Amino acid sequence: MNVKPIPTVDQRINDIRMRTAEIVNDDILPNEAKIWGFRRGGNGTGDDVARKEARQLRDDIKAKVKKAGLWAPHLPQEYGGMGLDFMTHAYMNEVLAYAIGAASLFGVVAPNSGNQTILVKYGTEEQKQKWLLPLIDGTMESGFSMTEPHNPGSDPRSLDTSAVRDGDEWVINGHKWFTSNGLAADFFIVMCRVQDEAGDGGSTGRMAQIIVPTDTPGVNIVRGIGIWGRDSSDHCEVVYENVRVPLDNILGQVGQGHQAAQDRLGAGRIFHCMNSVGQMWRAFDLMIERARTRKVHGGLLKDKQFIQGFIADSYIDIQTSRLMTIHAAEKIDQNDKEARTDISALKVYVPDAYHRVVDRAIQVWGAAGVSNDLPLAGMYMGARTLRLADGPDEVHKILIAKNVLGRYDAGETWDFGN
Ligand SMILES: Cc1cc2nc3c(=O)[nH]c(=O)nc-3n(C[C@H](O)[C@H](O)[C@H](O)COP(=O)(O)OP(=O)(O)OC[C@H]3O[C@@H](n4cnc5c(N)ncnc54)[C@H](O)[C@@H]3O)c2cc1C
Repeated sequence: MNVKPIPTVDQRINDIRMRTAEIVNDDILPNEAKIWGFRRGGNGTGDDVARKEARQLRDDIKAKVKKAGLWAPHLPQEYGGMGLDFMTHAYMNEVLAYAIGAASLFGVVAPNSGNQTILVKYGTEEQKQKWLLPLIDGTMESGFSMTEPHNPGSDPRSLDTSAVRDGDEWVINGHKWFTSNGLAADFFIVMCRVQDEAGDGGSTGRMAQIIVPTDTPGVNIVRGIGIWGRDSSDHCEVVYENVRVPLDNILGQVGQGHQAAQDRLGAGRIFHCMNSVGQMWRAFDLMIERARTRKVHGGLLKDKQFIQGFIADSYIDIQTSRLMTIHAAEKIDQNDKEARTDISALKVYVPDAYHRVVDRAIQVWGAAGVSNDLPLAGMYMGARTLRLADGPDEVHKILIAKNVLGRYDAGETWDFGN
């Protein structure tokens, strides 16, 4: 990966980028097949030696990342992270996401990372000791259980998993699905509607997020839902049947659940886009590598105008995506409330651009493009899925239009400079 210092950003950001690129180039890319290879071996079983070697390689890289001070960019320093602002994180992440799965080697693993952020913000000291620190150490896994099969996930106010206070316990009943990391998780953060609060409080006023250990009686993990033609995945369907947990397991207050979910998803959306930029960069390099070497009909692909069009369109897609991502990150850091409009705009634009870039790279590689020898097929599925996860395109477009029209209705016009 070709990363040089950027003249317009400060020394610290360049330093972080260059050190990240060094690990990506020296340690991850040359070993990528070994680090993750066993997963691509068809049914994911691989042989024991390969698994052991893969684990050792991952542990060695993680140790090097920690030593270089590049661990957990999303977490505050007091919790062992880098304490980066969003903009610095965006500049770092486009580099580390170039390598497949590299985020996990730098201590960022969804959904754990999102749950860590929520626990940092809303957790009590006791909750932090019990759930956050083991999550950061990697001795615990977690999931975020919000979406329900019988209600639209794009309208979280429709969720009806209930939490009823009974003595000093919550009793939770509900049906969730697509709870990612569900098979490995030690606990879920479950989005519930609290039913016994006095007063109305509005339809989002009584939402709560409650920590539920997965070994609590009544937590039934029905299945890992098969996606993209695979028999199963770790995106789980979970039925909560009279699940009892202590009242202390609530995160924040009753009524803060909706805001906590928005905090989590807002940050998650921009992280997804930072990752997409790095992955597009990789797909772009792969596309050009093939175009420069593959001869068809008497000439190299790079000399065909169709392919030059692919290269130019992809360049535009990537550069637009990264500038939008950095711009939104900058606005978040400034606590600009208009950042919501920019986050939605990039959540619509970037996954679609990512999808287009990977699609072109696959086309240039021909059959090899959809093979497991290259990371492109996985990227393609990831890009498509991103247009649904964390809010489908349509919901974000509605929000953009609402914010823009609201400004005009208030007698102003839009200022694209701010
Ligand atoms: C791989 C994967 C992992 C996931 N992980 C998690 C997880 O860990 N935890 C979790 O809780 N959830 C998770 N989800 C669920 C995800 O957040 C939801 O799928 C998403 O919020 C959309 O909800 P839905 O699937 O119920 O679609 P629906 O809400 O039913 O929407 C279906 C479609 O309707 C359209 N639509 C929606 N609203 C409007 C509108 N107002 N106007 C016009 N069209 C509209 C959109 O095209 C949308 O795609 C995951 C999903 C996937 C695919």
